[in-house]
Amino acid sequence: MAITYELIKTCKQTGARLGKVHTPHGSFETPMFMPVGTLATVKTMSPEELERMGAQIILSNTYHLWLRPGEDIVEEAGGLHKFMNWNGSILTDSGGFQVFSLSDLRQIEEEGVHFRNHISGEKLFLSPEKAMHIQNSLGADIMMAFDECPPYPAEHKYMKDSVERTSRWAERCLEAHQRPHDQGLFGIIQGGEYEDLRQQSARDLTSMDFPGYAIGGLSVGEPKDVMNRVLDFTTPLLPDQKPRYLMGVGSPDSLIDGSIRGIDMFDCVLPTRIARNGTLMTSQGRLVVRNAKYARDFRPIDENCDCHTCRNYSRAYIRHLVKSNETFGFRLTTYHNLYFLLNLMRQVREAIREDRLGDFREEFFEQYGFNKPNAKNF
Ligand SMILES: [Zn+2]
Repeated sequence: MAITYELIKTCKQTGARLGKVHTPHGSFETPMFMPVGTLATVKTMSPEELERMGAQIILSNTYHLWLRPGEDIVEEAGGLHKFMNWNGSILTDSGGFQVFSLSDLRQIEEEGVHFRNHISGEKLFLSPEKAMHIQNSLGADIMMAFDECPPYPAEHKYMKDSVERTSRWAERCLEAHQRPHDQGLFGIIQGGEYEDLRQQSARDLTSMDFPGYAIGGLSVGEPKDVMNRVLDFTTPLLPDQKPRYLMGVGSPDSLIDGSIRGIDMFDCVLPTRIARNGTLMTSQGRLVVRNAKYARDFRPIDENCDCHTCRNYSRAYIRHLVKSNETFGFRLTTYHNLYFLLNLMRQVREAIREDRLGDFREEFFEQYGFNKPNAKNF
């Protein structure tokens, strides 16, 4: 089997899991945050920098690579790892999320989804078989089943039809998958905020015995307490000996709260996207480096951070670069934000090892300011 999960221990205080996922390109520790490299690059970062900051697995987007440069070119290059010179693990999504979020002219049928290319307007069709073919050509260690991502909120009736179609599509994905020996295919549990539908989805998908499971359809605009409630009743439906991936989640509080609910893997564009706006995650909360008050502030972005950016550059300098649209400024902010989340997950793993993740959450939330009534989140 391409992907295996090793449960090292469970936190006695919270039930969070410390583990390792083994892939054909090495192992990564969990809970883990995966930086997003949409177009086979984590914007502004080199693979060497990602390695230095402690990234062990990155995500790339099937939809975007399909449109450019085309999966055939990546395959000809020897696969995604070789093409982008990243020797760690890679996960590709199925393209489903982009089809549903980027294109407005789409039509869902049993066979698949008709839609228009968000760049050229050209008519395209994506199906479970096509999504598997593209991902097999890209050659990531972990691939995702093609699912429907319904909007939030969605009616129970709509969601039930969607969950059932997603289960049928998952079966077709398993059948179409050509490289199970060196690529692990994960199933995606859908069902929105409905407990009965999450149960149905989990039952369908776990019966197909995927090497890992994702929880989809969260972080789509629902309040955080809804997300936590859905996780509370969904993660216990998943097998203990397989990794669990919460898709599209990357705010510091949700990474901690997700880990507490038994999630092993997370991804999100949040840290890289806000970095390119000059917004930083720090141990004291959010810092918008463009603000005038940092013009003469020669302290590092985060005095508690030992990343390359914080060891060498000041808020004043980074503010100047970001305001001048200098690429180097975005490299420094991106490096810090990714390091911040990777380091947060290191601390989460340490806290699980020592059975004190509940205490860690309290301290972190207090310092970050999440406990304040009008705390600025992301
Ligand atoms: Zn830093």
